Amino acid sequence: NPHVVIIGAGIVGTSLADELALRGWTDVTVVDRGPLPATGGSSSHAPGLVFATNACETLSGFAQYTIDKLVSLSTPDRLCFNQVGGLEVAATAARMDDLHRKAGWARSWGVSAEVVDADRCAQLHPLLDPSRVLGGLHTPDDGLADAQATVDAQRARATAAGVRFRGDEQVLAIETGGGRVTGVRTARETLPADIVVSCAGFWGVEVGAMVDLAVPLVAMGHQYVTTGAVENMGGYVDERPGKAAAAMPILRHQDSDLYYRQHGDRIGIGYYGHRAMPVAMDELYRDTAGQPMPSMLPFTPEDFDPAWTESTRLLPALAKTHVAEGFNGIFSFTPDGSPLLGAHPGLDGFWIAEAVWVTQSAGVGRTMAEWITTGTPDVDVSGCDIARFSALEVERDHVDVLSARAFDEVYDISHPREQRTVARDRQTSPMHAGHLRRGAQFVTSHGWERPAWFEANDPLASGGRDALGDEWFRRWWSPTVLAEAAATRTAMGLYDMTSLMRVEVTGADAARFLAPLLTRDPDRPIGTVLYALILDDTGGIRSDVTVARTAADRFQIGVNGPVDIAWLTAHARRARAGGMSVSVRETTTETSCLGVWGPRAESVIAPLTTTAVDATSLPFYRCAPATVAGVEVLLMRVSYVGEFGWEIYADAADGAELADRITEAAQPVGAVWAGRGALDCLRIEKGFRSWGTDMSAVDSPDEAGLAFAVAKNHEFVGRAAMLERPVRRRLHTVIADDPATVLMGSEPVSTADGPVGHITSAAFSPTIGRTIAYAWGPADLRTGDQVGVDWFDTTASFTVSPTTTVDPENARIKG
Ligand code: FAD
Repeated sequence: NPHVVIIGAGIVGTSLADELALRGWTDVTVVDRGPLPATGGSSSHAPGLVFATNACETLSGFAQYTIDKLVSLSTPDRLCFNQVGGLEVAATAARMDDLHRKAGWARSWGVSAEVVDADRCAQLHPLLDPSRVLGGLHTPDDGLADAQATVDAQRARATAAGVRFRGDEQVLAIETGGGRVTGVRTARETLPADIVVSCAGFWGVEVGAMVDLAVPLVAMGHQYVTTGAVENMGGYVDERPGKAAAAMPILRHQDSDLYYRQHGDRIGIGYYGHRAMPVAMDELYRDTAGQPMPSMLPFTPEDFDPAWTESTRLLPALAKTHVAEGFNGIFSFTPDGSPLLGAHPGLDGFWIAEAVWVTQSAGVGRTMAEWITTGTPDVDVSGCDIARFSALEVERDHVDVLSARAFDEVYDISHPREQRTVARDRQTSPMHAGHLRRGAQFVTSHGWERPAWFEANDPLASGGRDALGDEWFRRWWSPTVLAEAAATRTAMGLYDMTSLMRVEVTGADAARFLAPLLTRDPDRPIGTVLYALILDDTGGIRSDVTVARTAADRFQIGVNGPVDIAWLTAHARRARAGGMSVSVRETTTETSCLGVWGPRAESVIAPLTTTAVDATSLPFYRCAPATVAGVEVLLMRVSYVGEFGWEIYADAADGAELADRITEAAQPVGAVWAGRGALDCLRIEKGFRSWGTDMSAVDSPDEAGLAFAVAKNHEFVGRAAMLERPVRRRLHTVIADDPATVLMGSEPVSTADGPVGHITSAAFSPTIGRTIAYAWGPADLRTGDQVGVDWFDTTASFTVSPTTTVDPENARIKG
């Protein structure tokens, strides 16, 4: 087995060491700059509240594994987990609604949770004043992790298996050679290493810098206090060994950014309502040199005052005591609030697992161990992958602003469509000025501004603003979306597709390089376009891509994001080292892409070009260079909305001019500019999937309804595994029985047998006047079967339907 060095003996590094040892990888050394066993990192003083309910299935799964693992772990004198249960209370009607939504996620991801009334809250947590809350969400499996005991127990087990732990030894540099890590230089010596994993917590930026990896996290202060003794707590102190003297459930009061846990006859209070406190790391290194707890900053009582006032209202018994001790503890925040996991895209053998909470620590340890030892993670890591950010998104000011926002909003009610107000307009398309003229409402993706809909089209919307759904559904949404979608089906829509990331793969060996990576052989005549999947070694869908052969030695590939670009780039680097002539280059910002689709598209574009653009001359899934309105373009006969037309690629410098000329020519046919909202309605009507939402690397082509994209006679990575994989579940199309039903995604799906899956994407279809959604569910659900889908505290009936609702014969799209 390879030599592994893990940097950091906090809860994450130790969990990983334990999981590697459990898999037989014992040539592992864990190095920490701090002393052992308590290194002085965030884990040394974390109060350890563990809540498994999360909007994200993967993060919920990490937490569930953490609970399961910690329940079975102990040290000679302490248990690692005290399953006191969790209670999240609502002080406002909006929060109460949110608790119903969270209960839905819990059902979707298999977590026990129950919405309870105020009296039940007070029974569960005897210090609580029930008149202060409307109700709560009770999660009986949650509880308190003893973070240091968890570190100790896993370290003891790993040590027994042969893993070495070394304290008081700072890592200073990473040694590399031939595109790989070769060793770790510490203050004492150089340790040879084939694999290095940085689990350096909030020091991750500094360790990343040793290998030119921009690590988008910010170390921030967070206040935690312990009260003096609370009167009459005697009955609630659990004196049994290992119970940390706590019997009351962990309590979260998110309307006031507060959480509570019991420490015997005292209460610990954590607060997220204070100003963001980013830590200047160079000052921290200087000020805490040689100190045992560099992650604890002095308490700033003035920041805590509102928290104390509110706490004495919610838990009146606190009024008779006081804040006895407090500190501003440091841990990591990231731009999107999710951890940073995975492989360095530019240096083989270097991995990272940072910005991980105690809550997710053991689950992250397991998945990292799977990923490192087998090459493939065991869960969908797309939302956690260190490679998920674009170059723009890892720029320092971007990271600082968004991480501070993540801190501010950590306990906010988050709406899936809500857009941030900071760090906007960082990356705009060449057509942006036109979008502003038409009153575009924008959504961001990887820093790009994308129109969601255009207010200029408001007059086309019928039925008024309140015609569909409830207030929650209508937030950051407009019925104009439906009008834009409908106009695309009846006339023509113009869609700015520029922000969809793409790369150019060039070189004499480009086709030979791509062939084993794709589920269809790309070595076809120039002008061919392919929809293909990229599978991982287990036959799961890493990505789906559109591959256009634009020359014998050149392909343009539409990818799903930075992860794909990093992955293709890393493969090309290795292929070159093996003697191939191939390179990969991102071209997203160099080109513009305009989607022109609809039954009138041909009549608009044909007069603007001398190239024959009819369905016979340029058939579906073909591309050709052309001159349109005097601009050199690449016409690609593909459509994500399921209508005849093209993606029209031009140089970025020509993008605005081209769009204006086509807009002018399109006016007489009733064409509209349309945004992402309309695009989503139309692609769901057509049965098209969106990778990362509808399917991920844990799903096979067959399960996701994408077996058609896998060639029978082509050898590719993951093929053998794919053929052997059993079908565990399937992605079904379901249609609401009641036209008034709306959904947004992640809602639980049930049959008479109970919960069976969850919704991925959903949209109201203007074509059929009902909500169409995709639902993961049992493979044996058949067309016509009924399922229930929960929306807050109600359940709506849906019918399992054929995959494609509009144009199943492809007559419209083929033209
Ligand atoms: P750490 O424990 O910080 O470990 C990183 C290690 O890397 C350190 O030991 C450090 O010394 C070492 N290191 C860094 N650089 C080097 C180097 N160059 N060479 C060698 N070693 C190096 N999470 C929850 O889930 N629930 C909670 O209730 C909760 N409450 C919290 C309350 C407070 C006040 C704070 C501060 C955090 C809280 N957290 C909570 C967050 C949680 O504590 C952290 O996310 C978690 O402990 C991080 O673990 P880690 O192993 O990544 O980091």
